[in-house]
Amino acid sequence: MAEKAGLCRICGKIGKHTCKLCGRFVCDDDYDSSAKMCTVCKRGRKVKS
Ligand SMILES: [Zn+2]
Ligand SMILES: [Zn+2]
Repeated sequence: MAEKAGLCRICGKIGKHTCKLCGRFVCDDDYDSSAKMCTVCKRGRKVKS
């Protein structure tokens, strides 16, 4: 499937944020505005034990 700009790359909903780390376009739900990155990057970066 071709991914369209404007749609969240994670869930496919309408996106409106760009992750500053990976550049992935994501929606509100998949974006952490405090970290300014997508949830995928955030999860990958923050190692919680
Ligand atoms: Zn999403
Ligand atoms: Zn990201």
